[in-house]
Amino acid sequence: MSNYHIDTKCVQSGYKPGNGEARVLPIYQSTTFKYDSAEHVGKLFDLQAEGFFYTRLANPTVDCVEKKIADLEGGIAAMCTSSGQSALLTAVLNLCGEGDHIVSSIAIYGGTINLFNVTLKRMGIDCTFVDIDAPLEELQKAIRENTKLVFAETIANPALVVADLEKLAKLAHDNDIPLIIDNTFATPINCRPIEYGADIVVHSTSKYMDGHAVALGGAIVDSGNFNWDNGKFPGLSTPDESYHGMVYTRDCGRAAYITKARVQLMRDMGMAPSPTNAFLLNLGLETLHLRMERHCSNALAIARYLEQNDKISWVNYPGLESNKYYGLAQKYLPKGTCGVISFGIKGGREAAVRFIDSLKLCALVVHVADARTSVLHPASTTHRQLTDQQLVDCGITPDMVRMSVGIENEDDLIKDIEQALANI
Ligand SMILES: *Cc1c(COP(=O)(O)O)cnc(C)c1O
Repeated sequence: MSNYHIDTKCVQSGYKPGNGEARVLPIYQSTTFKYDSAEHVGKLFDLQAEGFFYTRLANPTVDCVEKKIADLEGGIAAMCTSSGQSALLTAVLNLCGEGDHIVSSIAIYGGTINLFNVTLKRMGIDCTFVDIDAPLEELQKAIRENTKLVFAETIANPALVVADLEKLAKLAHDNDIPLIIDNTFATPINCRPIEYGADIVVHSTSKYMDGHAVALGGAIVDSGNFNWDNGKFPGLSTPDESYHGMVYTRDCGRAAYITKARVQLMRDMGMAPSPTNAFLLNLGLETLHLRMERHCSNALAIARYLEQNDKISWVNYPGLESNKYYGLAQKYLPKGTCGVISFGIKGGREAAVRFIDSLKLCALVVHVADARTSVLHPASTTHRQLTDQQLVDCGITPDMVRMSVGIENEDDLIKDIEQALANI
């Protein structure tokens, strides 16, 4: 549906019912599919015929959602996974093995830091974390002979650092390696990283894409733009003995990366999404464009309200003119950034806890990026084992409140914040 606006793609892309078929994407809750001849099934296995044979590899419901996500991001194909974490793991393992190295922004999701810093290291894949605000020449120093990719988040969770996508794409491409971008917080409504040079886009669909906090999921989108046949990626450009000698770059053309991810890694690691979760994700995607607009307008209104409130010591939201990343946000995210804000309450830890406990509409949950406004006090929950000094060292201050602004009415949310602030 490449000629339509993204709003129309959210609603209609992916599923194309035939004459007399269900108008709404059906849930194919079946692990397996029936065929009339062994010859046909053989062709499916050889990728010479298109079709489904086992839901771990592909499923009609999941397939439609993958087509929609690829269309939204402007990629050639996508693969859904059971969670954002499994999408990230697969995106990296599709290019790296023991002895390889990756370069990642330090400002990323905590779970991804652990994946890169602990689990991948244990598998022999080394990671250098960099401050992506540094100039290109500085970042170049992190690249080694065995570096296979550069990774960052469009808008970092939870630091809200906005990535200079064109700079990172240049860093990667100057070194003949791909740029992988986690676009979870921006969503393709607010930014499509492929348009700025990203080669692979990854999502935790558990956040805004699902939007209702009902289904974990992840997605990998292939731009089809990277030339894998440059000698750095033998896994893609030499025969895969586990798939009777297939050479992905030769046999799959622009879809080399995403085909390998599916027929090799999904086959072997099995982090497949359930068809019912894919159905729920598709329902979320149908309203993504409407919800993102409201998340962003509510968050901006609240950020502005907090900024001029004398009980608040600081506000971090890249949509504010005063924010360090305002310029980058204007360039890459002109329609809005996301619904997540962080801010500090005067009076430190105790005041922050009292504020959170006094909220009535905004609920205390660990999740972010769904329709309901939620808050978290990292110092007393996710990071409660750390001392005040350790908190400061990892960028989390004792007074910090993280708010994921939902799609309720803006005045109701501000009133709730106002009454909670009055309580401290
Ligand atoms: C939540 C999140 C993840 C992890 O996704 P899950 O679906 O929870 O596995 C990865 N990256 C970002 C930016 C996230 O916000």
